Amino acid sequence: MHASVVSDLERLLGSSAVSREERDRLAYSRDMWPRNLILLRSGVDRVYAPDVVVWPGSVEEVASVVRFALRRGLPVIPYGGGSGVCGGTTPRGGGIVMDLKRLDRVGNVDEASRTVEVQAGVNGQHFEDALNARGYTAGHFPASIWCSGTRSGTVLEPVRQDRGHGLARALRGR
Ligand SMILES: Cc1cc2nc3c(=O)[nH]c(=O)nc-3n(C[C@H](O)[C@H](O)[C@H](O)COP(=O)(O)OP(=O)(O)OC[C@H]3O[C@@H](n4cnc5c(N)ncnc54)[C@H](O)[C@@H]3O)c2cc1C
Repeated sequence: MHASVVSDLERLLGSSAVSREERDRLAYSRDMWPRNLILLRSGVDRVYAPDVVVWPGSVEEVASVVRFALRRGLPVIPYGGGSGVCGGTTPRGGGIVMDLKRLDRVGNVDEASRTVEVQAGVNGQHFEDALNARGYTAGHFPASIWCSGTRSGTVLEPVRQDRGHGLARALRGR
């Protein structure tokens, strides 16, 4: 990857939101896919790794990274909690892993439709806690709710596995 990619991303997001450090490239080289964990146990620390990891802090910054990657012909891999068990975040072609955890806002509950707008990186338990504080529950308690599964990954991963959808339904009052 050309060195200017990192400096250009730093201009877009600020240097603290961009990393090419070895430890970050290692951490984002896999999710909880058992096959990768078995490889790790057998001494293979990574098969694939991203060239660079970014942590955008707003929707506009996400869009700017996607536009930039498109211009430079680089893959972008969205990363929620990394708790997916199917290797969905594996950076097979290198490129940019985009961790969305800074997008963690839970909006207001719409009383009439019992829906709520959440940003892509909200942790599962934090989402449930925010709803509980307002007298609602999502009624969705995957075993991974504590270990970070974000709302976007939780909705999208079953779709990618052709298992239908998980969380796209109305909230329940408690
Ligand atoms: C201990 C454990 C228990 C689990 N229990 C359950 C369970 O009970 N039920 C269940 O359904 N699953 C379970 N899982 C699987 C996993 O937690 C879910 O699939 C989880 O919801 C994934 O969310 P995530 O944010 O970690 O996604 P990630 O692993 O980060 O991403 C999953 C996929 O979605 C993509 N993605 C992430 N965010 C975005 C975005 N904003 N836009 C576009 N694409 C995006 C990623 O690129 C990847 O392909 C479990 C996993 C573990 C490790």
